[in-house]
Amino acid sequence: MKKLVFCLLFLFSAFTASLASEVSVPAKVSQGHAFPVSVQDDRPFTAVFRWRGEELKVRAVKNGPLWKAELLLAMPIDAVKEHVLSIELPEEQQDLVIAPLKVKWHESLLKVEPKYVQPPAKAMKQIERDRRRIRRALASRTEKRWALPIARPVPGGITSAFGGRRVFNGQPRAPHKGTDMRCQEGTPVKAACAGTVLLAENTYFGGKSIYVDHGQGVISSYSHLSAFDVKAGDSVRKGQTIGRSGSTGRVTGPHLHFGLTVQGVAVDAMPLLSSPPDFTGGPSRSIFDQNKASKPRSTR
Ligand SMILES: [Zn+2]
Repeated sequence: MKKLVFCLLFLFSAFTASLASEVSVPAKVSQGHAFPVSVQDDRPFTAVFRWRGEELKVRAVKNGPLWKAELLLAMPIDAVKEHVLSIELPEEQQDLVIAPLKVKWHESLLKVEPKYVQPPAKAMKQIERDRRRIRRALASRTEKRWALPIARPVPGGITSAFGGRRVFNGQPRAPHKGTDMRCQEGTPVKAACAGTVLLAENTYFGGKSIYVDHGQGVISSYSHLSAFDVKAGDSVRKGQTIGRSGSTGRVTGPHLHFGLTVQGVAVDAMPLLSSPPDFTGGPSRSIFDQNKASKPRSTR
């Protein structure tokens, strides 16, 4: 028996010694941030990543002289505990702990038409339908088409950053699950990455909205548009104009609400505009935060 155990141990160490896999996984990620993970090897392989109850299979693609399996993952905005990322490779398995970094989110007080705070009974049917269709769109898992850095959908600055606690007409609501970007009505809105249009339709809160699938559960959304330049099923290039900005749905004025969801988890898209992405930073700042930077902030 002892001999057998020794043999197995010897075999195991022989395997690990022969492996050329190079795993790149961060140890710490800010709440509400997306982060890339990758495995490289000198031969083709398929990696299975398990993260927060979801399993994603990624086939390595040629990357110079090596093969690389890459995936974008998300740390939820409310994550407090460490999560384990499990990576299964043809000849080994690795469990890596990733700890969330706490982010101090902003609070924004907004005034909108009362029907968007207390929707009338007749709107409930559409709200429910929107929810179902959006949930189904966000459940899409296709081959990777995202690439970093992502493209800025409109040139304007941030008017309301991701993650801010929102108080509509005095009533607290869920944190902001996207980034509001300043733009005049009719500004061309560009796709953040290459992908396939999942939805291009009118929704109650988002107004005219587009959802684009970039693969592996990475989905971007563009809301409050005035017009569509694409329809569901269209394939789009990174930077392609997909619609025009506007002020449809729950808005205080014309702007683009730009959202990014990674395997169903909303994340701040702004850190992904820079390369390499910053996934250990704080909340993105809006043009208004910068104006008020020297004044004390209300802590209400
Ligand atoms: Zn918004």
